[in-house]
Amino acid sequence: MLFSESFIFTAREDPKTADCTSHKLLLKGCFLYMVSSGIYSYLPLGHRVLENVSNIIRKHMNACGAQEILMSALQPIEMWQKTGRDKDLEEVMFKFKDRKNRDLCLGPTHEEEITEIVAKFLTSYKQLPFTLYQIQAKFRDEPRPRFGLMRSAEFIMKDAYSFDIDEEGLALNYEKMLGAYKKIFTECGLEFVEVKADSGVMGGDVSHEFMVAAAIGEDELFYCDKCKQYFKESGKCCNCKLDLKEVKTVEIGHVFKLGAKYSKVGGAMFLDNKGKSQPVIMGCYGIGVSRILPAIVQTNHDDKGIIWPKGISPFDVSILILSDGAKENAIEISGTLEDLGISTLVDDRPLSAGVKFNDAYLIGNPFVVVVGKNFINSGKLDIEVRKTKEKLCFTKDEAIDFLKKEYGK
Ligand SMILES: [Zn+2]
Repeated sequence: MLFSESFIFTAREDPKTADCTSHKLLLKGCFLYMVSSGIYSYLPLGHRVLENVSNIIRKHMNACGAQEILMSALQPIEMWQKTGRDKDLEEVMFKFKDRKNRDLCLGPTHEEEITEIVAKFLTSYKQLPFTLYQIQAKFRDEPRPRFGLMRSAEFIMKDAYSFDIDEEGLALNYEKMLGAYKKIFTECGLEFVEVKADSGVMGGDVSHEFMVAAAIGEDELFYCDKCKQYFKESGKCCNCKLDLKEVKTVEIGHVFKLGAKYSKVGGAMFLDNKGKSQPVIMGCYGIGVSRILPAIVQTNHDDKGIIWPKGISPFDVSILILSDGAKENAIEISGTLEDLGISTLVDDRPLSAGVKFNDAYLIGNPFVVVVGKNFINSGKLDIEVRKTKEKLCFTKDEAIDFLKKEYGK
């Protein structure tokens, strides 16, 4: 991608609407557009990051045998009245009438709808088990939207639902999902903590939350400096008997064993191998996909801008052309890298080196390659590794080999 042809317009000044570092950097780097309080559009850079995160999630969900679907965002309110959750979620639900005076809402979550779908098709134990998931916008009427994508009215979630014959099957699926979640968050470059949690309005009796430490978090955990473990309770550390330190955290994932709560009400029944009617046993598994962006930025930035982890960044490499005579060479290097599956953003604008470096840091690609006078005079390229701040000097072939190795190509 040539910068001169892109829709990337970074800001020089800190945006006045930003109430935390991650939000400031996402707005400043032209990742997001604030439509209104709690409502955001993803611009090309933000969309590329969102797709990278979504594809990591898809890879690990598919590896668990989960099948992707896409449910409706518009839901009839009757669906919610059956489980009584129209009352539980009343305050956060966006409700309205259509022209036929039918009561509708924008789905804040999808347990009711998935149960209805499965009830329609499920007849026999022979069809089980299966897991379905979607990546979709959800809507909650937040009393106080803040911190950008961290707490917004419209947000993107991955929600998966497992269906099993019995509790043993659910336990297996639940463990499989916990394993997939650890891989997903690790690949996203997040330092996460897994804790046992309350099930809240979801119901069921077992649930785990995945949290990341962040100063803007609205939940808290308690940390033991000695054994490096987190606890839900501020009781001294049960291993070391030392005082615990309070840490603010943000929830990025939550998984629940729902059991038969929704299937009993929604009539998702099957005949077991003895011909007896049984409610299907469910689990549900959420990830706050859009929230992962600020969660990554909160812990992956410096005073110059975002430092996206490899595989998450909008492009793999920024290439800065810092000399008039170097454009052809830069385009050639970009072509070689693109052919290898390494994406590049080539800054070909007729602007000063200062502006180009500034933008490269705001955009946050992990490697910044400089093609300037040094290349014309001595055939050497400079590569800056944003994470380690290393500055390397290579010939063109060495640089390509280095990047190939970094990206496992
Ligand atoms: Zn301890």
